[in-house]
Amino acid sequence: MFKFKEIILNTLAVGSLAVATSTSAQDELILLGTKGGPSLYSPKALPQSSAIVMNDDVYVVDAGYGASYRLLEAKVPLQNIKAIFITHLHSDHILDYPALLMNSWLSSLDHEIKVYGPKGTKAMTEKLLEAYSVDIKLRYQDEGREPLSKFLKVYEFDEGDVYQDKNVTVTAKRVPHKPFKMGEAFAFKFDTAKKQKIVFSGDTNYYPPFAKFAQNADILVHEVAHTEGIDRLAKRMGYGPSFRDAVIAHHITPQDVGKTATNAHVKQLVLSHIVPVGDPELSDAVWKKDIGEFYKGEVTVGQDGMVIPLK
Ligand SMILES: [Zn+2]
Ligand SMILES: [Zn+2]
Repeated sequence: MFKFKEIILNTLAVGSLAVATSTSAQDELILLGTKGGPSLYSPKALPQSSAIVMNDDVYVVDAGYGASYRLLEAKVPLQNIKAIFITHLHSDHILDYPALLMNSWLSSLDHEIKVYGPKGTKAMTEKLLEAYSVDIKLRYQDEGREPLSKFLKVYEFDEGDVYQDKNVTVTAKRVPHKPFKMGEAFAFKFDTAKKQKIVFSGDTNYYPPFAKFAQNADILVHEVAHTEGIDRLAKRMGYGPSFRDAVIAHHITPQDVGKTATNAHVKQLVLSHIVPVGDPELSDAVWKKDIGEFYKGEVTVGQDGMVIPLK
């Protein structure tokens, strides 16, 4: 069950400005960006990012390029971001991280955004604040705003408990995603107050222990990479065999995603971080057929802007 948010913003005139307003009473999972990898071919499929919206609190999971824009398309106010969770520091998961921080800060943010990422996230954030320091300082001195750093708290986590509030409890599991070392790339599990379990695989190889972490998930958002599709992508882009071999070695086939979903007894499998996107030979039916060899449950092939209602 899913729908798409209207692309046209519901706007509220404020002087000469128009701001996004939340119309969402329904808790939902929004797929902001569903493309795997950092290359940009089409605005229809931007790199990996998702959001859970519960009681108007927004939890962003990964921040691939365009995440801020996609939130606005989905009528989600940036100032409602409560926490950002980063699976790993590949650029297709973080290029919009500085944009999310700056854009939410400059959109009437009135609370601290908590950021949870693997080792390296604090240093990255400090350097980003330094990179934007001219603007931050001017807006602080000239416009009387509180500095961005006052609205930001960054935590580096390892496997286990990560975060808890009235809506969600978040835990993390290490997953294998070369060339990162084990402990530098993670999956997340959101246990909601309404007893739903939503799991994000992050970028990963086939990893049987992950099925235990994702056990009985209501929704599993899983990455996927199609071997023949990557062959065709490498040829189209003029990349050599090292690109092809690296992409295949760092990710997971549809068949193995199917095995994982079956072993985890997942109710609904949602594909995101899809590699490649835009291949005419890879229709939704092809992905579903390959996964269906090993998983008989509901499969949703993710697209940017797709909204999956939560309980
Ligand atoms: Zn990735
Ligand atoms: Zn990655």
